[in-house]
Amino acid sequence: MNSVINNLITIAGPCSAESPEQLDQTVGQLVSQGIRTIRAGVWKPRTRPNQFEGKGEEALKWLQELKGKYDIKTTTEVASAQHVDLALKYDIDILWIGARTTVNPFGVQEIADAIRGTSIPVMIKNPINPDLSLWMGAIERINGAGIDQISAIHRGFSSFQETRFRNPPMWQIPIELKANLGHIPLICDPSHIAGNRTMLFEVCQKALDLNYDGLMIETHNNPDQALSDAQQQITPDVLSDLLSKLRIRKASSTDITFINQLDELRDKVDHVDREIIEMIAARMKMVEQIGNYKRDNNVTILQMERWKQITESRPEWGNILDLNPDLVLDIYKLIHQESIKQQTDIFNNTSDSTLK
Ligand code: PEP
Ligand code: MN
Repeated sequence: MNSVINNLITIAGPCSAESPEQLDQTVGQLVSQGIRTIRAGVWKPRTRPNQFEGKGEEALKWLQELKGKYDIKTTTEVASAQHVDLALKYDIDILWIGARTTVNPFGVQEIADAIRGTSIPVMIKNPINPDLSLWMGAIERINGAGIDQISAIHRGFSSFQETRFRNPPMWQIPIELKANLGHIPLICDPSHIAGNRTMLFEVCQKALDLNYDGLMIETHNNPDQALSDAQQQITPDVLSDLLSKLRIRKASSTDITFINQLDELRDKVDHVDREIIEMIAARMKMVEQIGNYKRDNNVTILQMERWKQITESRPEWGNILDLNPDLVLDIYKLIHQESIKQQTDIFNNTSDSTLK
């Protein structure tokens, strides 16, 4: 049996349930690959009207029938109290809240109120926009309805910029979620992050390297003919091949040499970090002196020429030392912002005292 399936929460199935045949064939193949948790959307939130919007209640019946035929658990997206009632009526095992619902506290609360009193597990996708609080808020609302089994699904965030992803992953946001809510399993949905088949492996491997707890991957018996998200779906065979190539890494090791070496390196990093902070503090002291000097000579805080010179030279210096120049520029933007703030305080304090 595939080690990803053995060690991680593995969910697969079509973007949408389209017909009894499509569902049966896809699920049958997935089950023979060892997948036991099947996803299928029955109500599809589509960007434009007149696209395939899912088969609704009739598709819930197909899913229920397949539960009789195969030993599977089913999961579907719910976006309203009515969806919840129907999903419960047809024995759906796990609900998920889609990205377009997580952005809307009214919608999430409606779902929370509808599931109160049940113990159905709920998976909560990140909101469309990169807002950690909205994601955490949705988790809190569902938890507040008495649901203990909650997981988070990372499906990427929408972006104004053209990127190689359909929904750029912005990994720091799910990492931050994990830092705040460490007990909540984190599942990666590489299908909606990548938006195509070629980048699925790369996104899955990155999720495993970041110690994610599971994967949810869109899988269809005939992906090219899929009625939604055709470009990103793969066949159960391709899925099996992809899963077998992924490398599972350990969250930690008991190897004593490894632990000692890691400790030693972390010690060095601690020292360097201390030096970095001391240097920044020293730089801020100089900025303060410069602020006083500018004030005494009645010149403005912002000197555009000087700032331009900094934004050009620092990334170049970084580049020579093999540092990403964009990183260096970002660091200097933050430092500069703080310098301006400090000098503004110096200027304000002076005007206060002259007014008194
Ligand atoms: C889906 O899983 O098919 C879906 C609609 O996802 P999302 O809410 O992440 O867009
Ligand atoms: Mn989809």
